[in-house]
This record gives sequence, C-alpha cells and structure tokens, in this order.
Amino acid sequence: MPVYGEYEVAVLGGGPAGIAAAVAAARAGRRTLLIERYGFLGGMGTAAGVTNFCGLHANVHGEMHRVVQGIASDLLDRIDRLGGLNAPHLILGKIFAQAYDTAAYKIAADDLLAAHKVDILFHALGAGVVMDARRIGVMMVETKAGRRAVRADIFIDCSGDGDLAAWAGAPFEVGDSNGHMLYPSMMFRLNGIDPERAGEAWKTIPALMEQAEAAGTHKFPRKGAIVRPQKSQIEWRVNFTQLARQDGSAVNGLDPDELTRGEIEGRQQAMQAFEFLRTVPGFEKSYIVDLPPQLGIRETRRVLGGYRLSGEDVLGCASFDDSIGVNGWPMEQHVAGDVVFKFPPIPESRGFNELPYRMLVPEGVDNLLMAGRCASMTHEGQSAARVSGACFAMGEAAGSAAALALSGNTIPRDIAVEKLQQALQEQGAFIGRDQKVPEGL
Ligand SMILES: Cc1cc2nc3c(=O)[nH]c(=O)nc-3n(C[C@H](O)[C@H](O)[C@H](O)COP(=O)(O)OP(=O)(O)OC[C@H]3O[C@@H](n4cnc5c(N)ncnc54)[C@H](O)[C@@H]3O)c2cc1C
Repeated sequence: MPVYGEYEVAVLGGGPAGIAAAVAAARAGRRTLLIERYGFLGGMGTAAGVTNFCGLHANVHGEMHRVVQGIASDLLDRIDRLGGLNAPHLILGKIFAQAYDTAAYKIAADDLLAAHKVDILFHALGAGVVMDARRIGVMMVETKAGRRAVRADIFIDCSGDGDLAAWAGAPFEVGDSNGHMLYPSMMFRLNGIDPERAGEAWKTIPALMEQAEAAGTHKFPRKGAIVRPQKSQIEWRVNFTQLARQDGSAVNGLDPDELTRGEIEGRQQAMQAFEFLRTVPGFEKSYIVDLPPQLGIRETRRVLGGYRLSGEDVLGCASFDDSIGVNGWPMEQHVAGDVVFKFPPIPESRGFNELPYRMLVPEGVDNLLMAGRCASMTHEGQSAARVSGACFAMGEAAGSAAALALSGNTIPRDIAVEKLQQALQEQGAFIGRDQKVPEGL
C-alpha cells in the first residue's frame, strides 16, 4: 500500500475536537496531519448544519462567563472578523449559546490550520488500522487515488464515532444501559423571513405547535423545537426533527442502512416542519436555503478511558486533579419525542464541571488519544460534554498531550499531567482548578 505520509501526530476528523487537536499539536512544533472525509472542517457544526456553538459559556453563580478559551478564542475571532459570528443569546433563560455562519466557520477553520502549518487531507475516509502490538502502526485511508497508509507516532481519534479507537481494539460503549442513543436530527435553515413580523418567534413557536397538534393539522416528531435567527436576521436555523427506527428507538449512526433511511426521512421531516413554519407570522415567504450534507448525529461510540465523565459530574460541577478544561453546558437529553435539559443549581453552583485528562486516554492502545463526543463519558455525561465548547477544550488538550508525550519520549498515558496543565494555561486555555474564571463573553 502506498504511504501517503509520515507524521508525528495524525488526527482523524475535522470537527471542533479535531480542529483544536491538530492546531495544538502543530503549535507545539509537531508535524501534524488532519484527515477529514469531507472537503471542509467543522464536523457536525458545518456538515450537519448545527450553526450554533453551545458550551463556550457557563452560568457561574447567575453570571455568564466564557469558560472555553484557548484555540476556541482564536477560531471565534477569525469567524467574527469574517462577519459570521452572532452575539451570544440566552437559552431557556439560563445559559448562553452563540450562532455562526457556516461559510465563515469553514473559512476561519482553514485559515487557523494554515496559520499553524497543519497539513490537511480532505476527501479521505479513515478505513482501518494495522496494529503493532498495542500501538497503531498505520491508519489506512480511502482516497480518490486509492487506498493509502498514514504513519504517525501518535494518533488522535476525533471522528466523533470513535472509528479509529474501535479499529485499534479499544473498548467502547454505545447508548444507555439498553443501548439507546440520543436521537439524531436533520437540521435546516430558512431564508426570506421578515424579521420584524417574526419578532421573537422562537418563544411562540412551541405553543403554536401544541395548538396545531391539538387542532389535528400537524403532527411533530418531538417537542422542544429550536427555531432562531442567524447573523442575518432573514435567515433562521431550525432544529425540529427527530429520527427514530420502526420500534421508536433512535436511528443508529453506525449502521449504514439506518443512516440512509435517516437521511431520507430527515429531509421529509424537514419539509413537514417547513410547511408548518410557513404558517407562522413573518415566515410566509420563507424558503429552505440549506439542507446540510448529512443527518446530525449526537451520539454513537463512547470509547472507554481511565475515567468516564458522568451526569452526576455535570450536575455536581465536579473537580478533578487532572483537569484539562471545563464544560459549562447542562445535560441535554434527546429522548423519545422530547428534549430534556438538566442544569446544575443556579445560582448556587459555579455552573461548570472540569474535564479530566483520563477521559482522553483509551484503554488498551498506547499511541492513541480521543477527544470530542467519542471521549470517555457515560451516556448522561456525554449528553452535556458532547457540545462544541467541551469538544474544543478536549481537542486542545489531546493535541498538547500528544506533543508532550513526544517531547518526553513516552506514551500519552504516562505524561506528567501538571506539565500538560501548565502548557494549556500558558496558551490561554481555562482549565478550572485554581485558575480565575475568565471575565467577559
Ligand atoms: C442536530 C444536532 C444539533 C446540535 N446542536 C448543537 C448546538 O447547537 N451547539 C453545539 O455546540 N453543539 C450542538 N450539537 C453537538 C455538536 O455539534 C457535536 O457534538 C460536536 O460537533 C462534536 O464534535 P466532534 O469534533 O467530537 O465530532 P464531529 O463534529 O462529529 O466531527 C467529526 C468529524 O470527523 C469526520 N469523520 C468521521 N469519521 C471519519 C472517518 N472514518 N474518516 C474521515 N473523517 C471522519 C466527520 O466528517 C466530521 O467532520 C448538535 C449536534 C446535532 C447532531
């Protein structure tokens, strides 16, 4: 098999975790490759049309703070300079989220990686590994030019689905104790909305949905619809759908047939949602401007590491000696027909939990780290820390950890965590512990 390249660090997947991991490793001077199956970065944030950052902020005793900094701040600045970043907006009266323009995110991420001299290989599907005892020897990628081998000293799985870890034989879990995963959704965006007439329609739409269901004119796959304006107020994102199998359980994002049916039914659900939304004042002349490249997958494999972040950790704002970043997003459980949020106590709590380094270090494989929604968490913990903010933090830590392991000629599991914590803080990340909570938004 032809060798595509030999690297010190290879990152699979270009979502928020992969972007931050690749930048952190390259920033530390390591020859780094990021491999992505699409032709652009952003992961679910662009490929599934999410268009909104959650988890950058925390509600700290009733006050909002941006607790994810570091590489995420650089990316946000770049999106903002392109004119593609909204001011943060309040969700459920309790926490901030921040919408962005997909095109600006893609361009800003390209620029960020180029600024740090990360090599990118787009249109390459990771497809397997060749193991050398407990180490990944090469990762195979399928490209238009055929199958290629990528060599690296350390690999970082940011595929969201734990593909690389699974091929390497690391143990993983899927779903809750019954194997039920968070439901996927097909996002879409509408354009041509009259912002004045639409007003604060995100507040009235849920009640209008209930009325429509009671009147028997419409039936919706879930409650908890999110319909909100983007940077340009004539464009709104719609998070409305929920994809289930025949038996009512969530479509499995690891099964190609289920994914295929999910895509088609997701578009049908989007069309039905659109027909309803056109009855909302201000939406009469709207049209679907974007159905994203893929169905939005919230949860698949969670790779087992030295610690599993749990729902109790999120609600109890847990601290860890080996913290490498924080999560300020609440539990957000996409259950059958609904979305259930669970927050740490407001204003009594500090509103964020720390993320232990052990979440990023898999069992059984020595030259692998994982970051993002496939990191080591329980089903409940993942419902919170899967959002973009925590994924950026985990990615930055994983990339920095890989670089430290290489400098110390050791494996990621054995690095001195204090050195990693020091490096992250020096680079502007907020990791909790005794660090002052960053001011501002
Ligand atoms: C419908 C929906 C709405 C959401 N809403 C929000 C929200 O409002 N705010 C928020 O912050 N989060 C939201 N999330 C969650 C968030 O988008 C994801 O959890 C987050 O993007 C996960 O980041 P990640 O980097 O771990 O993985 P992903 O974003 O999934 O990125 C993984 C990347 O790896 C690539 N990849 C995967 N497998 C391979 C392979 N074998 N070979 C090559 N490339 C591969 C993928 O193409 C992708 O680019 C939402 C998710 C969904 C599905």
